Amino acid sequence: MEIFQHTIGQKVVLEGEGVLTGEDIRLELCPAPPNYGLVFVRTDLRPEREIPLRPETIEATEGSSVVGKGEEAIFFVEHLLAALNGLSIDNLIIRISGPEVPLFDGSARAFVEAILSVGRKPQWSLRRYLRVQEEIAVSDGVGRVVLRPAPDFRLRCEIDFPHPAIGRQQISLQLNQEKFLSELSFARTFGFLDDIIAKRKAGVFRGGSLENAIVLDEKGVLNPDGLRLPDEFVRHKALDLVGDFYLLGVPLLAEVEAYRSTHRLHLKALKTLLAREFAWSWYPSPGRVPVHPRYVPSFAV
Ligand SMILES: [Zn+2]
Repeated sequence: MEIFQHTIGQKVVLEGEGVLTGEDIRLELCPAPPNYGLVFVRTDLRPEREIPLRPETIEATEGSSVVGKGEEAIFFVEHLLAALNGLSIDNLIIRISGPEVPLFDGSARAFVEAILSVGRKPQWSLRRYLRVQEEIAVSDGVGRVVLRPAPDFRLRCEIDFPHPAIGRQQISLQLNQEKFLSELSFARTFGFLDDIIAKRKAGVFRGGSLENAIVLDEKGVLNPDGLRLPDEFVRHKALDLVGDFYLLGVPLLAEVEAYRSTHRLHLKALKTLLAREFAWSWYPSPGRVPVHPRYVPSFAV
């Protein structure tokens, strides 16, 4: 478990096409001071708009996790947040020139490479964890997410898609930087050709290609190079979970069991947890280190 907070060594810039807008999006990851937290900035709005990661600014749609409301919204934050959670980055200013984080190859690889190229920078302030104290279970009729107390962040994911290339897959791991890099960071998102064509026709997707995702038709994988691993699908689901749980803005100490989960179900689990006063606590306790106001979920305390 990381004891101290981290930011990054210096500013790093990424550029890529947005799948929703079809436009090039510029993403600047900038170092931030201790206790600053993770703050998004929409640089294309006038004036620029700051959106801190807080329970009241986070949302989920069917296909992505979202930070900010209305015209401030930023879609597809989950793979970037997975990289930040996986690499234990606490303080960062994320400047973005549009309403979505580019998908790059559909995994967290581009973000991981950018961060590791400038390095993690330790900050001599204690990391604060949100510790699960009581079991929380949520369901949407199909999937289910259960949170239980644990001394670290560990997960167990299972998916079950009636498709010849996917079927039933499961993965369990205890999250740390090495495991994140070697087991999850490279796993790409996936979509079905029929859905993608329908979204193109409806004008929901203006960009996107086989470069941004694993694409399946009813028989198999259409990407010429195939899969990175046979169980890349469930690894990506675990990557999404690692990203979605960092929507809290702070790391979680919990065992998370996810069966056929979605972004919406992950959010429902987080909001249910925060709304139950005795289901969680800060670690270390606020008596030992004061809680920075940015870290206090306003509807939860
Ligand atoms: Zn994803």
